[in-house]
Amino acid sequence: MSLVMVIEDEEAISLLLSYNLEKEGFEVVTVSNGLNAVSEVERLMPSVILLDWMLPEISGVEICKLIRSKPDIKNIPIIMLTAKSQEEDKIKGLSSGADDYVTKPFSIPELMARVKTNMRRAPLFEEKEKILTFKDITLDLVERKVKRGENYLHLSPTEFRLLRMLIKEPGKVFSREVLLKSVWGENIYVESRTVDVHIRRLRKSLNKYGPDYIRTVRANGYAIDEHMQNNSDSDNEEITEE
Ligand code: CA
Repeated sequence: MSLVMVIEDEEAISLLLSYNLEKEGFEVVTVSNGLNAVSEVERLMPSVILLDWMLPEISGVEICKLIRSKPDIKNIPIIMLTAKSQEEDKIKGLSSGADDYVTKPFSIPELMARVKTNMRRAPLFEEKEKILTFKDITLDLVERKVKRGENYLHLSPTEFRLLRMLIKEPGKVFSREVLLKSVWGENIYVESRTVDVHIRRLRKSLNKYGPDYIRTVRANGYAIDEHMQNNSDSDNEEITEE
């Protein structure tokens, strides 16, 4: 499912947007603090970003420039939301790297149409940036789909992000701390055991259609690679729900 990120400090507007986007079948995440925005974009890799121009801590224009300066996220379509309707502001918004520009108060049907149009633009991602693969595992960052061979896997957003981290650098061992920070976020407290729980679920989904490529490094973390399959923890230990 495609993920839309709404970066907006006014709760009434982000609620209105979330409601309508979800109705259109999108997964939605809202960010109200502009200072977290870029790290949240890096962590969640949305398909489209709705970005408010006027945020208290940092302007939408600054956030837009930051996103455009980062190779991993620079191609994500950004629609700027603003109360400013002056031609000059519009030019400033677009020259900061926004793909589209909607003036408040906006019409919901029009905004939804813009979201869809910009989402279709996402294939402008170069193929090598859009698809990550390891052996027979394929991860489509834009469509947010995971395949093993010809089989589609149904991963939760957390498992998708975990797999994305691992598959980006096969063979590299990621510690639980690093995975927690980049998959769950900086300001959220979760026990490192949570990582193990989600890795176990990810394994379960992946291993339905092939050998286990996730390697557990004792007391250290996880990697994806071809290894001798002797993971004693790919068992059926009780899984706690999120
Ligand atoms: Ca605002």
